[in-house]
Amino acid sequence: MTEALDGPTAASARVDGWRAEGATIGFVPTMGALHEGHLSLVRAAKRRCDRALVSIFVNPLQFAPGEDLDRYPRDFEGDREKLASAGCDAVFTATPEEMYPDDFSTYVVEDRLSATLEGESRPTHFRGVLTVVCKLFHVARPDVAFFGQKDAQQALLIRRMVRDLGFPLEVSIEPIVRDADGLALSSRNVYLSPDERARALSLSRALAAARAAFDGGERDAAELRAAARRTIEEGGVEPEYLEVRDAGTLAPLERVTERALVLVAARVGKTRLIDNAVLGGDAL
Ligand code: AMP
Repeated sequence: MTEALDGPTAASARVDGWRAEGATIGFVPTMGALHEGHLSLVRAAKRRCDRALVSIFVNPLQFAPGEDLDRYPRDFEGDREKLASAGCDAVFTATPEEMYPDDFSTYVVEDRLSATLEGESRPTHFRGVLTVVCKLFHVARPDVAFFGQKDAQQALLIRRMVRDLGFPLEVSIEPIVRDADGLALSSRNVYLSPDERARALSLSRALAAARAAFDGGERDAAELRAAARRTIEEGGVEPEYLEVRDAGTLAPLERVTERALVLVAARVGKTRLIDNAVLGGDAL
C-alpha cells in the first residue's frame, strides 16, 4: 500500500526516517491525474532506489492567468490506487497555502534554456516550475529525481538548475510513454473530444516523419522541419512551434551532427499539446 502523507512537513519526517535507515530515495514530482507516463517514472524510481516518493501538487505558480489551473483534472483516490500498483512507497500532497505564504517573494529563474520554445508562449511558466521543484527537492531530499522526456525542455532545465545550484542529486530523464496509436500520454488528453483526439495524432506523426527523414540520411534541419510540418498540416493542425534543436542546449541547428530534438507544440481545439522526439539516439 502507498502511504498517504498529509503535506510537506509529514513528507519531510518520513524522509528523515528513511534516511536514518540508510535507504536511498527516488522522487517523482507530479501534478496528479496520473497515467502510465507517471507510473513509468515511479517504476524507474523503484528500480534505482530503495524508496519511491511521489508528490502531487497542482502548482499555481506555473499557470498563467487564463490557463487551465481551475479545471486541471484532480483524482487523488484514483491516483493513490495507481501508485500502489506501481510500487510507490509514499505520496504527499500540498496546498498552495503550504507552499506559498502570502508574502512569498523568492523565485528560481534560469535565463538561457527557458527563454525559448515553451518559454516564449508561457513567459512565467518555467520560473514557476523551477521554484516549486526546488522547494519539493528540499522536502524529498532524493538521491535521484525522475522526470519525463515528454516535457523535454522542463527536464533539461531542471538538470541545469541541479548543476548550477549544486543540488546533491541526479536527474534521470525517462522515455515518453505513448498510447498504442502514438499519442503521448498527458493528463490534458481528457480534454480532447473524439474528433480532436484523432487530429492530435498528427503531432506524433509529424515527429515520426522527421525521424523517417533523418533515418533516410537527411541532416539538413530545415528539410527535417519541412517533412514534419507537411505531416502535421495534413492532419489539420497548425503548430505553434516545430523546431529542430540541439538536445543539450536547445540551440537552433542548421545541420544535425550531434543528438538533436524535434519539438512541437500545437493547439487542438482549446487544448495545448506538446511532444518531441530525439534524433540520433534513444534518450536524453
Ligand atoms: P505532470 O503531472 O504533467 O507535471 O508530469 C509529471 C512528470 O511526468 C513530468 O516529469 C512529466 O514529464 C512526466 N510525464 C508526463 N507525461 C509523460 C509521458 N507520456 N511519458 C513519460 N513521462 C511523462
